[in-house]
Order: sequence, then C-alpha cells, then structure tokens
Amino acid sequence: MADYDFDLFTIGAGSGGVRASRIAAGHGAKVAVAEEYRVGGTCVIRGCVPKKMLVYGAHFAEDLEDATRFGWTVEGKSFDWVKLRDVVQGDVDRLEGLYGETLSNHDVTVFNERAEITGDHEITLASGKVVTAKYILVATGARPHRLDFPGAEHAITSNEAFHLDEVPKKIVIAGGGYIANEFAGIFNEFGSKVCLVNRGDQLLRGYDEALRDRLLQISLMKGIEFKFNTTFESIEKQDDGKLLVKLTGEDPQLVDQVMFATGRVPNIDGLGLETVGVETGENGAIQVDAYSKTNVDYIYAVGDVTDRVQLTPVAIREGHAFADTVFGDNPRTVDHSCIPSAVFSHPPIAAVGMTEGEARNKLGNIKVYQSDFRPMKNVLAGRNERSLFKMICDAATDRIVGIHMIAPEAAEMMQAAAIAVKAGLTKADFDATTAIHPTMAEELVLMK
Ligand code: NDP
Repeated sequence: MADYDFDLFTIGAGSGGVRASRIAAGHGAKVAVAEEYRVGGTCVIRGCVPKKMLVYGAHFAEDLEDATRFGWTVEGKSFDWVKLRDVVQGDVDRLEGLYGETLSNHDVTVFNERAEITGDHEITLASGKVVTAKYILVATGARPHRLDFPGAEHAITSNEAFHLDEVPKKIVIAGGGYIANEFAGIFNEFGSKVCLVNRGDQLLRGYDEALRDRLLQISLMKGIEFKFNTTFESIEKQDDGKLLVKLTGEDPQLVDQVMFATGRVPNIDGLGLETVGVETGENGAIQVDAYSKTNVDYIYAVGDVTDRVQLTPVAIREGHAFADTVFGDNPRTVDHSCIPSAVFSHPPIAAVGMTEGEARNKLGNIKVYQSDFRPMKNVLAGRNERSLFKMICDAATDRIVGIHMIAPEAAEMMQAAAIAVKAGLTKADFDATTAIHPTMAEELVLMK
C-alpha cells in the first residue's frame, strides 16, 4: 500500500473544512489543512457572524427611538460606525484564533497558503512544498458573484462591506436575496439612503409569498427604496469619488457605494480539479454523491463549493458526515430536507418546510393557519409593524409541512419550531401545548 504524508488533506478552513478535519483527526487520521486567507472561512470572517453583529448594532437605531415611549430619555445619542466595525473585527479575530486552536488541539497541520491538486493524491502548496494524501477534501466555499457591465469594478460586495471607512450616505444594492435584504436593513438603520435594485419582481425567491410581501411593505415603510425589473447599464466614478449609477428605464443616480449581492459562485479556480478529472456542474459546483464523494474515488467535497445548500450548518453537517464515513467507520449521509433558515432582515424572516405554494402543488389538499399580529413591544412603541406567522398542514394527515414567520426574533423561535416540523408533529400536537403568555411564540400554539 502506498505511503502518504497525510491521511486527509483538506483544502479550505471554513465551516465544513474545519469540522471535517477536526472529526477526522479525532478518529485517528493524520490531517492537514490549507487555507489561503483566514481560518474560519466566510461564515466567521466575512459572513454570518460579523453580519449578525452588525444586525444587532443596527437594531439599536430603532430601540433608542422607541426607548422614549418606555420612559427613557437618551440624550446625545450618536452612532460611530468605525467603533462598531472595529469591535466586530476584534471579535472576528478572536473567533479566528479559536478555530485555529481547535485545529492545533487536534494535531491538525495548518498550511496558511494556497493549495493545488497537482497529481494523483498529490498537493502542491504555494511555497512549492509537495505533499501527498490518501484522501483529499475540497471545502473551498464560494465567493460573491460580480455582475459584468461598464464600471462594475467600482462596486463592492459583502466582503468589503465589513471594512468600509464610513457608512455610505447613499447606497445601491444589487440583488433581492439574503444578502441584499440583510444589508439593506443594516445600512438603512445606520442612516444610509438605500436603494435595492432587482432584476425581477420578487424578493427572496423560495420564501413564502405572504412573508416576502410583508417584508417589502415594512422595508418601504422604513424608507428603503426598491427598483424591480431593472438592470445596470453602467457605473461612472466621479472626480469626488461618488458613483453615477445608470439603470435601464430609470433616472441616473449619484451614490457613495454600489454593492453586489447577486448570489455566490463555487471557488474552484486554480484548484487543479481538471488535472485529476473532478467533475463540475454548470456553475462550477463540484458534483458529489450523497456521501460527498466526487467522481474521483479519493476526492470529496463539502459545503458551498458543491452548491447543494449554501448554509453554514449544512456545510458543517456534510463535513462531519464525511469524516465519520471515511475515518470513523460510520458511513452516513446528510438529510438535506426540511432545513430551517432565516433572513436577518429588519424584521427577520424564518422558515422551515414547504411554502403555501409548494405545499399546494405537491399535496393538493392543505390547510393554512395564520396569525397576523402586532407584537406587544411594537404596540407600546407606537411602531406600526405587524408580524405574520403561517402554518401549512397536510389536510389528509394534519401533519405540519411548513412554518413561516416574519417577526422580531423569528429565527430564535423557528429553531425550536423546526424540531417539531422535522419530527412530523401535527397541528393537534401544537394545539395541545399550553401557551407561554405573553410571548410572540405563543401564536404558534394558538393559530386559527
Ligand atoms: P441569493 O441567492 O439569496 O440572491 C441572489 C439575488 O441576486 C437574487 O435576487 C437573484 O435574482 C439576483 N441575481 C442573481 N444573478 C443575477 C444577475 N446575473 N443579475 C442580476 N441579479 C442577479 O444570494 P445572496 O448573494 O444574497 O446570498 C448567497 C447565498 O448565501 C444565499 O443563497 C444563502 O444560501 C447564503 N446566505 C445565507 C444567509 C442566511 O442564512 N441568513 C445570509 C447570507 C447569505 P433572482 O431571484 O431573479 O434569481
């Protein structure tokens, strides 16, 4: 049998790669990881984690405004972006350190450089060092998709948004998905004039229509501008640094920043996949089977680079299942059905299971329960912002097949509700549960 330097060589130390490496090492494998940027990957370094911190920071704008209705006087309130940015980045540094520690505690060798597959079981590092491995795991994630038109190079992506020197007075955000809506909320709360530009007429495709409409309505109320069914013609940089944005069928507008939030593409460039014949799909996604194995027997891939479900907890599960399968003598796959998700917009949306439309198409006979209410805190604050909960049930069995919420803390409530949906509980099970009063979550067991 051939002798290799490592049992496993992981390319990419993001959520999926770190979990896989740690678990494989725990199973006794000799593991190395290469990371060209920062240990932690998109989620920790420039995604979910710092984004959520900005969401918290942004929400103070409303809390401080509402505080007066609760009897508080807040004098001289002001917002210092640089302070928040630097505190967030400080915590990102801390988390990066913890991820590094996790790897070293498990005796995983970390190469802080780029790696390329240069032959069968062979990896060449940017430094020129060549190593061999019995298994290779590609966990290189994805990067923001950039639109292509004259002047597109002047636009930033979420990567840069975390490091801005100042909050833009005016910003155009391209896209209508997760990142566009989350950052529209963040910048709007920080006082930016936000204009969201979407090529179609739908936000957050895949989420239940009633919730998407509610988010649009609330976002408009908060002052976010939307332009639907339009595309970019050009961006022209002015002498003073401002950007002149031209959209089809719209008046040109002068803004401080343009941000692309138009999806993410798998990171496969320069990995040497073609050298060993790893199959990729149309958008570059590495093709894998249920065990995350590629068409090359010893090469696996997990996370966003496979473009199955671009969510951190899914990448983590895929990485863990891979390590258990290959090194833990416990072959297992990841169930990609019924995955709960959330959009950290203002207010957030959270969902699990089928939308009303999907359920109607798939099951035909369904029952829809709904609760449309103004949370107590909003009532007292005089904030005319209503929440909406929807529960979709299979009429034949009473089984809950989907729950959808737009409400403050929707994601927190959804995590618990998703367990019930995943477990196949019925509306009657929810009805049999006593409410916790007064909460927003009690609406879940009181829906009519
Ligand atoms: P999304 O897929 O959510 O949204 C992409 C948006 O860009 C859609 O509105 C899409 O329009 C539009 N778009 C795509 N291509 C083009 C194009 N060529 N020209 C114009 N518009 C285009 O992607 P995001 O970038 O917002 O986020 C990437 C992924 O990261 C998400 O899908 C999600 O999986 C993950 N993510 C998860 C978060 C969370 O869990 N809270 C937060 C942030 C990201 P259309 O609808 O017409 O296709």
